[in-house]
Amino acid sequence: MVWLLRKCNNCNVYTFKDSCPKCGGKAVSPHPAKFSMDDKYRRYKLLMRRLAANKE
Ligand SMILES: [Zn+2]
Repeated sequence: MVWLLRKCNNCNVYTFKDSCPKCGGKAVSPHPAKFSMDDKYRRYKLLMRRLAANKE
């Protein structure tokens, strides 16, 4: 579950929460945005395929 980790850009602290436990700043995912975009798109396609299968 490493991809659930977020990182504070201010103090380089890793956290599971949206905000940094150290400075209270916004913690963001250290992974490239493209990764999550592709993942969302893949899930969307899977969902659409499932919905289409239910109709038939
Ligand atoms: Zn911080």
